[in-house]
Amino acid sequence: MSVIMNWLREELGKISDSEIKIPNTEIKPGEVLIGQIESMEVKKIYALRKRILLEINNLIESASSYKALDVIKESLSDNHDPATCKNCILQRQLKLLNKKKEMLDELFWTCVWFELSEDALIKIDKHDSIGIRDNWQIVANQETSDGIIIGIGLPI
Ligand SMILES: [Zn+2]
Repeated sequence: MSVIMNWLREELGKISDSEIKIPNTEIKPGEVLIGQIESMEVKKIYALRKRILLEINNLIESASSYKALDVIKESLSDNHDPATCKNCILQRQLKLLNKKKEMLDELFWTCVWFELSEDALIKIDKHDSIGIRDNWQIVANQETSDGIIIGIGLPI
């Protein structure tokens, strides 16, 4: 088993029912209800994705407390060492967290896709994207002027 697959299995196992928050975005005009997420595992993936987003935000916030000038000085100094440089360490941490976020995004929407019925998949054909709304409802919606693509619509 790989490091990341172990991490995923362990983290999903640790998510409590109380950490699973129901999405509370109402269905908007033009959106078509095509299903509902029943699987607790898929809901846990959603919760884990939210936790990682929070970690990313916290890390960025803590980084903004660094003195920008000190960071630049450290990066340009002759004895710059990426192993101990605060900025380099932060960049590496962010990169790993972003990889987890991307993986969880892809995993979540793939899981949602496979929860859908044949009838729902036919309805999606006529639309451009899917989203999650109140009480784990899955909706199909039409492309907006912003050019929404599959995967957009997940409230964070
Ligand atoms: Zn550095």
